[in-house]
Amino acid sequence: MGEFDLIARYFTRPVQRAVLGVGDDCALLAPAPGMQLAISSDMLVEGRHFFADVDPEALGHKALAVNLSDLAACGARPLAFTLALALPRVDEAWLAGFSRGLLALADVHGCELVGGDTTQGPLNICITVFGEVPAGQALLRSGARPGDDIYVSGTLGDARLALEALLGHLTLPADLLARTRLRLERPTPRVALGQALRGVASSAMDVSDGLLGDLSHILKASGGGARIDTHITSNLIAACAYVSSATSPFGSKIIHQATLAGGDDYELVFTAPPDRRDAVAAASLAGNTPVTRIGTVLAQPGLQLVDAQGHLLTNSYASFDHFQ
Ligand code: ADP
Ligand code: MG
Repeated sequence: MGEFDLIARYFTRPVQRAVLGVGDDCALLAPAPGMQLAISSDMLVEGRHFFADVDPEALGHKALAVNLSDLAACGARPLAFTLALALPRVDEAWLAGFSRGLLALADVHGCELVGGDTTQGPLNICITVFGEVPAGQALLRSGARPGDDIYVSGTLGDARLALEALLGHLTLPADLLARTRLRLERPTPRVALGQALRGVASSAMDVSDGLLGDLSHILKASGGGARIDTHITSNLIAACAYVSSATSPFGSKIIHQATLAGGDDYELVFTAPPDRRDAVAAASLAGNTPVTRIGTVLAQPGLQLVDAQGHLLTNSYASFDHFQ
């Protein structure tokens, strides 16, 4: 099968809201008046971001999910995306699964595939997403102020636990592995929550490399530091029920590492002034996504990790860094 047949079969569908989709030299989008375009790219590389034998349908889902997560972090509504794909060979079963997972998630969010590039090479998937946000209302990393509450959506650490289990570093009970593996391979971008937080959150970003590392990007952009209640973050992992049990396969150190520096969570971490707690609760409802208050922005730089008694923990939970 040639390049153009492949594109026609797996990646071409009738245009919906775009002016022009796959098939010409450029796609054409018409942003609504008063809207700004929000644009982001993420690349997934075999061996680095996924295992060679991962289910192609899950991979298609994840490749778009991580990009939609960036739009969510800015409070943008998804519009369209492009797909640049390097494939070692034409494997129709793989392509069918990959495009099914990719386009199913695209349909959920009304985000249409409008173009891309296809070439032969080591498996590499690069997606660029385009979203829209009312002018001046995008959620940025730079708006956090001392005294603001810090929140995180959903759960933390499950994806990292699954990764460690798949790498053979720890053993999980089968039901827990299945549950955490879903979080690793099929993350849920918090698109509705991000939009609901416009005008409520003072800053936001998505958690892709680990909570503390990503939060430190907000603090760097905004100025100041943070206190994080680790007895609260520790409870945001699906595995927490196993920790207190006598048969726990791992201790609290792993729970701290996974929740604070795990990576691959694709949740939103955001800040809001304490007098906006009702508005945050309303956004959580509107976005159909639980959020948990996990700490406070401080004027003084640095991260303070405290336990239930308010005692400081030593901060040794560095974020996942691809170059370490
Ligand atoms: P050009 O050579 O002008 O860059 P190509 O021949 O690479 O165009 O691609 C032909 C058309 O197919 C273009 O509209 C391009 O956007 C689209 N396309 C190529 N690869 C993909 C892909 N993986 N998914 C979606 N559209 C694609
Ligand atoms: Mg080309």
